[in-house]
Amino acid sequence: MAALNGNVIEINRGTSARSWRDWTNRHNIPSVTLAGVVPPGKRLVIVSPHPDDEILCAGGLLALATASQRECLLIAVTNGEASHPDSLAWSPSCLAAIRARETEIALSILHSGRIQIVRANLPDGCLNAAEPCIQSVLEKWLTPNDVVVCPWQNDGHPDHEAVARACFHVANDLDASLLQAPIWGWHACSPDEKLIDQSAALKLNFPREIWHRKKTAIHAFRSQLEPDPSTGAGPILPTHVLEHFYNPYEIFLRGCQ
Ligand SMILES: [Zn+2]
Repeated sequence: MAALNGNVIEINRGTSARSWRDWTNRHNIPSVTLAGVVPPGKRLVIVSPHPDDEILCAGGLLALATASQRECLLIAVTNGEASHPDSLAWSPSCLAAIRARETEIALSILHSGRIQIVRANLPDGCLNAAEPCIQSVLEKWLTPNDVVVCPWQNDGHPDHEAVARACFHVANDLDASLLQAPIWGWHACSPDEKLIDQSAALKLNFPREIWHRKKTAIHAFRSQLEPDPSTGAGPILPTHVLEHFYNPYEIFLRGCQ
């Protein structure tokens, strides 16, 4: 068991990527094209609780959207400064700077380096209490023309779930489209729990070239991939967690809450 941003997620025990691949095949999750996710003329908005979430859940979508000249916006809710509590190697200010830079590197690997980024600078690990602030940021930036992508409402990480709730309320008020994407949920939940509704799921396939670029982009987040000798903690994102995001497709959920 490991601490993650002050919250407890069992990093060493979880559901395998193979189990979810089997679930995807067993339920024959319908495939959609980019136009089925972000129709021409619509803007794609990714709302990311922490640097790396945007690439893990939607790096392939971002690459496809920018390649097709869709307008894209990334709303970075926090700067991820709380990923290494008590570390002597990583101070919060150092993490905030490095993790923001890691996102920029990852986006450039996906050829999405020129998309607009809005940084809300809200406190990492405290988004439950900051939910009204998230809503204010979203109300300022979202429009009815947006397709909003955010974490899944049951993702298991309180910051992710707070972002999902805020996105749901603001997108609903605006009548904007909303898609949720599990991140920690793939690891923390099991297909047997039936928490992820397969009837709401869409599968966006991407070509081999984007698949490879997404895997490379994930490895831009070096701060999350290496152990911390000063605390003895393992990587925040060990290989068995990363494997959930190495598929040549991404799964999005419609109409949650
Ligand atoms: Zn996160």
